[in-house]
Amino acid sequence: PLHVVFKDVSIQYPNEKKPAVRLASFQIKPGKNIAIVGPSGSGKSTLMQAMLTFAPIQSGHILVNDKEISKIAQESLWRQMNVSLQHNHFFYGSIYENLRFANKEAGEEACREALEKVQLSHFSLEDQVLEKGTNLSGGEKQRLALARLFLRDASIWLLDEPTSSLDAITEQEIMGQIEKATKYQAVVTIRHRLTGLENMDQIIVMNHGEIIEQG
Ligand code: ADP
Ligand code: ADP
Repeated sequence: PLHVVFKDVSIQYPNEKKPAVRLASFQIKPGKNIAIVGPSGSGKSTLMQAMLTFAPIQSGHILVNDKEISKIAQESLWRQMNVSLQHNHFFYGSIYENLRFANKEAGEEACREALEKVQLSHFSLEDQVLEKGTNLSGGEKQRLALARLFLRDASIWLLDEPTSSLDAITEQEIMGQIEKATKYQAVVTIRHRLTGLENMDQIIVMNHGEIIEQG
């Protein structure tokens, strides 16, 4: 399991006048379900980018199991993460091949189960994904992207608006499946909508680059 600690983290992009994130402190503990909410531009994605080592940190510390994140090999860090960013990419091939991209060892049964968890059982493993996934609707793409995560064994799930194209009921059911699959893993979700937050262990509210509330 991974335990991540942000301590007074400030992040400023090159050529920007103001920091995108200012003095952010919070913790991600194993097994916790955490939502990051706040208006557009408030720094939510930047926090997630920082966990992926993609953000220009100005000051402060990010510790992963007591080790500075900058001293950890990126590959070993990413291998322990299940990430869904806002634009999901698929390649031409079968649904099965696209799922197995997440885990070369995943068998047919595991892949079918993953499709079921995201309510895509109307697809068969042999169905083809067209170039850039254009035969899938926006919601189906999001669900296929999430299906891949169920096939991986990760310590932290980082999800940037994973259900933005789904209706509230489907969202609730899929987030419930994720919760079931992550008893010992942390799940950090950036959320735009403020519904469905009652099952969260922790909510972090961002505004203008600062955490204005958490708990
Ligand atoms: P949110 O995810 O809450 O919408 P972001 O973290 O994307 O917010 O953005 C926070 C601030 O950082 C915004 O002012 C945004 O314009 C700026 N920003 C985000 N990414 C970059 C970047 N790559 N280069 C410069 N500025 C950026
Ligand atoms: P390998 O076994 O080749 O070293 P990994 O086990 O790191 O590769 O990853 C296997 C596949 O899982 C990668 O090809 C990649 O597509 C996918 N993957 C890797 N990291 C992530 C992640 N953080 N979130 C989702 N999928 C990932």
